[in-house]
Amino acid sequence: DVTKGIVRSPFPQIDVPDLPFAEFMFAALREYKDQIALVDFLSGKEWTFRQVIEDSMRIASGLSRLGLRQGDTLLMLSFNCPEYTLALLASAACGITVSSANPTYTPDELARQIEMSGSTAVVVGETLVSVVEAALQHNPALKDKLQSKQIVLGQAEGFRPFSTLLEDDGKAFPENVSINPHEDVLLLPYSSGTTGLPKGVMLTHTNVTANILQQLGLTVGERGTGTVLGVLPFYHIYGMTVSQWTALHAGNTVVTLPRFQSQDFLSAIQTLSITDLHLVPPLVLFLAKDPLVTGYDISSVKKVMCGAAPLGEGISREFATRSDALLLQVYGLTETSPVTHFNNPPVRLGTIGHVVSTTDAKIIDVDTGEALKAGETGELCVRGPQVMKGYFNNPKATADTVQDGWLRTGDLGHVDEDGYFSITDRLKELIKYKGFQVAPAELEALLLTHPAVSDVAVVGVPNEEAGELPKAFVVPRPGVPFSEKDVIDFLHSKVAPHKKLRGGLHVLETIPKTASGKILRRLLK
Ligand code: AMP
Repeated sequence: DVTKGIVRSPFPQIDVPDLPFAEFMFAALREYKDQIALVDFLSGKEWTFRQVIEDSMRIASGLSRLGLRQGDTLLMLSFNCPEYTLALLASAACGITVSSANPTYTPDELARQIEMSGSTAVVVGETLVSVVEAALQHNPALKDKLQSKQIVLGQAEGFRPFSTLLEDDGKAFPENVSINPHEDVLLLPYSSGTTGLPKGVMLTHTNVTANILQQLGLTVGERGTGTVLGVLPFYHIYGMTVSQWTALHAGNTVVTLPRFQSQDFLSAIQTLSITDLHLVPPLVLFLAKDPLVTGYDISSVKKVMCGAAPLGEGISREFATRSDALLLQVYGLTETSPVTHFNNPPVRLGTIGHVVSTTDAKIIDVDTGEALKAGETGELCVRGPQVMKGYFNNPKATADTVQDGWLRTGDLGHVDEDGYFSITDRLKELIKYKGFQVAPAELEALLLTHPAVSDVAVVGVPNEEAGELPKAFVVPRPGVPFSEKDVIDFLHSKVAPHKKLRGGLHVLETIPKTASGKILRRLLK
C-alpha cells in the first residue's frame, strides 16, 4: 500500500524452510543428477551436480579431520573457481562460518579481516599465498591460530593442498551437527554499511536460504538449463548468492572466470553459449560500447542482471542496440543477502523495480523517520527474512542500522504509484568504485597516519565509467614538508587497487565540519 508509506511485495509470499543451508542446497542439487553444474572456463574442468554434492561431502569430512568444528570461522581468499563453491558448501555442512575476503587485498587489509572475523582457518588461491604469508609475518598470534589449517587451492610450501580434502574418503562427514538456521552464521562478508570501517555482516543460514527463494520466483531464478557466467567476484555477496547459489539451485550451469578480463569474458560467452550474465554497470557499459565486443557472437545471452551501483538509462538504451537480452536492474546490499528489489518484467527503465517476495519497504523522512508518500524522496528502509542478524561484535552499529526489523539502507530514493522504486542518491558516506566498496573512514584513518597530514576527508566524485572515484582533501601539517606524490604513494602501498585515489588529492586549509566534528561531505562534493 504505497499511500500509507509501507510498500509490500507484489510477489507471492515464500515460506522459508527451517533447514540448514547445505541441506537446503543438497536437496535441490540432487534433482539435477548428471547435468553439468560447474565449469572452470580456463581449465575446462567440470563438475556434475552429483559430483558437487559428493565432493562437498568429502571436503567437509576433510575439514573435520583437520579439526575444524561447528562455530569455527574459515576465511576464503580466492579468485572465482569451482572449488570456491565446493569449499563453501562443505563449510556450510559442517556449520563453519565462511568469511570471504577480497582477493585483491593487501596483507594489512587481509590481516584485519582474519583478526576481526576470528578466523582459525584459511582457504587460499595459489597465487595469493604470499599475501597470507605477509599478513601473518608480523602477527605471530594470528599465525599461531591458523597453525595447520592453511589450505591452498593448488600447491604451496607450508600449506595443505585442497586436493587432499577432495581425496578424503568422506567418512568423517559430520552428520550430526545441529545447526540453528535462524541464529547460526553462514557467511561473514565485510561491509562498511552506512558509516565507518568495514564490519563483519552476519548472514544466517535462513537469511541466505530466504534470499535464494525470493529470487527463484523472478526472472533471475527461473528453473532451467541456462548457463550463468560467474564473473563477478564470489567474495562479494552478489557473486556469492546470485551467481552461485541461486543459479545452481535453479539447475543452471555456472561457468567460473577468475576475474573480469575482456577477451576471456567475451570468449567464454561465445564458446559456452552463456545465457545469463550477472554484471555491474561498468561491465554493461563495456558490452554497450567497447569495439572489441563486435568481434564476438554474444547472441546466446538472454538475460543480463545489473546491480551493485546505479545503472544509467543511457547505458541501458545503448546496450539494447547491441543485444536483444533482457536487461534487468537489481538492488540490494551485503546486509540483505543481498537482493531486496528486482526489476522483473514489465521492466521500468531507470528503476530498481519492485520489492522482492516477503519483503516490505518504505521511504522515510531522514530527519523525522516518518514514512513518506509515493513520489517523495527519502531514505529507503527494508524489512524481510534476508535482513542480516547484525554486525559481528558491533551492537552499536547494528542498533544504528536495524531498528524494529527495518534496515536503513543509507540510500535515497522514491517509489512511484505502481510500486517501482528508484535510487537517486546516497546518504551514507560509502563510495562505490565499479561496484566495489570504498569506505572513506578507512582511507582517512590511513592518511592520518602520514606525518605530513594533519586532517583529511575522502569523498567520491562522479565518473561515467566507474560510477565514482575516491578523492582526498588533505590539510598539510604545518612545519612538515608536504609532497602530494609521497602521500598518495604512501596510501596506495597500503590498499587494494579499487581504493586508489583515482579522483586525485586536493590540498585545503581546513576540512569543513559540523559543530559536532562531522565532516561535511556534501559540501566537499
Ligand atoms: P554492497 O553491500 O557492496 O552490495 O553495497 C550496497 C550498496 O550498493 C547499496 O546500498 C547502494 O548504495 C548500492 N547499490 C546496489 N545496487 C544498486 C542499484 N541497482 N542502484 C543503485 N545503487 C545500488
